Amino acid sequence: LASRTTQYLFRFTPHHTPKAYTMFFLKPGSLFTHPQRSRFPLQALRYASGLSAAIGAKCSAAVPQTSKTPPTTPPGRHTLSGFSLHACCPKPWATAALSLLFSAVVSAQALQTTIDTATLGDTKIRLVTMVAGVQPGVQYLHVHQNEATAVTAAKAMLTSAKKGSFVTWVGQGDRYVSFKLQGLTYKFDPNRIFTTAGAHATLNSQGPFSAEALAAVRQVAVQFTQRYVDSMQLVVALHNNTDGGGLSIDSYLPGGTESANTQLVHRSSSHDPDDFFYTTNADIYAYFSKRNFNIVLQDNTKVVDDGSLSVYAGQKGIAYLNVEAQHGHLKQQTAMLKAVQQYIRQWNPRP
Ligand SMILES: [Zn+2]
Repeated sequence: LASRTTQYLFRFTPHHTPKAYTMFFLKPGSLFTHPQRSRFPLQALRYASGLSAAIGAKCSAAVPQTSKTPPTTPPGRHTLSGFSLHACCPKPWATAALSLLFSAVVSAQALQTTIDTATLGDTKIRLVTMVAGVQPGVQYLHVHQNEATAVTAAKAMLTSAKKGSFVTWVGQGDRYVSFKLQGLTYKFDPNRIFTTAGAHATLNSQGPFSAEALAAVRQVAVQFTQRYVDSMQLVVALHNNTDGGGLSIDSYLPGGTESANTQLVHRSSSHDPDDFFYTTNADIYAYFSKRNFNIVLQDNTKVVDDGSLSVYAGQKGIAYLNVEAQHGHLKQQTAMLKAVQQYIRQWNPRP
């Protein structure tokens, strides 16, 4: 570690705001051989695992920055400043530095977006996935494109938590999707196609019906559930509803329109009735009702098969949680998603 060829520098540099610092981890000379600023995090990852043991074992002292500062700074808005550790630091420093390093890599990458496509006749639905970081077994999803508050809330949650994967249907901008097949135009609700009975019913209620259209819709549903639902330990759906109309937590109380589908319901006086959770899982219900959120536990045996994802999840024994908030309740829906992240953090799945 003492020789020139094995010398490494840790650097902290202002990033976005004076209070937030991003650390770069550089091998001497790399400023010149890799002028692209974006190459540094990948390079850092490459070196980090091999170095962590060496740093912990051999480092002894941090030294202030000296005239060995490289004469140039990498391109971009970042400037090198602060101090460097010349390959030597106490063990806690090494641990903290490596932890910061990985945070820096995540923030540098922000949300990574990938697009999958589902085809229905002449219509293509883009399944746009945004990933902030690895969160095994959890999938956030959104199928009603007109429910825009939910998308904004999901992005805020991903950026803040720096973990999680969110997939959203991007089609014709509406709640519904329509497509042409053999000269006819069909229309369906994407959250009614996850069972055959539901897909049949939603096509019938929105326009013409044919066996071919049903097969096309079901193919998309199966494609979606195989990729984003079936292997998950927790599926978190996001929806928005309308103030004073349609569903609210009150719909699930005794006498309400949804009471027959409901096993348990907790109504909170400290939340808007339009902002509520809906789950298929008793443990999730216990967690959020204890924290005084509005929440419904679906009756998985009695629930009417309308083809919604909660019905599918109930049939398959998948833990499903719908984060439902009124259109425009961005603050509330973001807070609900934060509570979901807290729930996942303490989640210890039962065997
Ligand atoms: Zn919805």
